[in-house]
Amino acid sequence: AAPLLQVRGLKKHFPVAKGWFSRKNDYVRAVDGLDFDVMPGETLGIVGESGCGKSTAGQMIVQLLEPTDGQVIFDGTDLASLSGEQVRRARRDLQLVFQDPYSSLNPRMTVYDLVAEPLIVHGLASGKALKAEVMRLLEAVGLGPQHAARYPHEFSGGQRQRIGIARALALKPKMIVCDEPVSALDVSIQAQVLNLLKDLQEQFELTYIFIAHGLPSVKHISDRIAVMYLGKIVEIGSREDLFASPKHPYTEALLDAVPVPDPRLRRKREPLSGELPSPVNPPSGCAFHPRCPYAQDICRQQAPALEQKAEGQSAACHFPRHMDEASTASR
Ligand code: SF4
Ligand code: MG
Repeated sequence: AAPLLQVRGLKKHFPVAKGWFSRKNDYVRAVDGLDFDVMPGETLGIVGESGCGKSTAGQMIVQLLEPTDGQVIFDGTDLASLSGEQVRRARRDLQLVFQDPYSSLNPRMTVYDLVAEPLIVHGLASGKALKAEVMRLLEAVGLGPQHAARYPHEFSGGQRQRIGIARALALKPKMIVCDEPVSALDVSIQAQVLNLLKDLQEQFELTYIFIAHGLPSVKHISDRIAVMYLGKIVEIGSREDLFASPKHPYTEALLDAVPVPDPRLRRKREPLSGELPSPVNPPSGCAFHPRCPYAQDICRQQAPALEQKAEGQSAACHFPRHMDEASTASR
């Protein structure tokens, strides 16, 4: 099968507000050259700390933000080459589910109107068909018809996220970028919304990009995972390989941050220390070197390229970890 999404050299550089302290051409390299594919029906998890560029990447993919450079190729078409009606069509196919659904829901609209709005705006349904479609969407996300006349403030966080998901589904997208869809929710509600997203993926043959802060949040939903650091992918591979045999020290550090219930399995290395450096003046060479326990001279001088280290698993590191282990080794 051909990939549904191909991201090539994707960059977003924001100019820095000029001050007496800033140099002439300072800019924030929020996203600094991403390359990856997503296959139809697959879920790609994108993980990294705040400020790594993962949300910015998601917004460029769904065409909410214009890239500084690079291409988003969707279903074989470079989205930058489209115009007019074709752009609207592509926007329907690519939807975003936000972290905080409340901020994206108009508080003066009922749930019915909120879910009907995208269908009306895109001229997809009217009259009886519109009503039937709204009710079908509410049911699909687990909200009964009794909720249709209520307003967003009358709902819990999890229910609001269901409304946000219904709005995204209304346009029958092929791909949904979920930007930390459960991180604002109570832990007890998170699993319910994740299970809903999984069910909907199967039911509507959706392809997902699932953006999250840490590896545990994407473990059960992702087929493959990309780990981002300062605007770049430092490792990408199958979920199994990343968890069992991480090649990049940053991935390894993120795994060490995961609490392990059995103390005998706890590893002895220090957890990740130090702050995320500024994306305005990223460190020389490998941007992770100030925080990397394995850094050598070459790491400060030469940026490592993202290269295949094992079958289906690439990392950007001069001294990759776990190279001697079988990629399916259990951990
Ligand atoms: Fe650490 Fe060097 Fe690998 Fe960067 S290239 S992650 S500094 S070992
Ligand atoms: Mg974010």
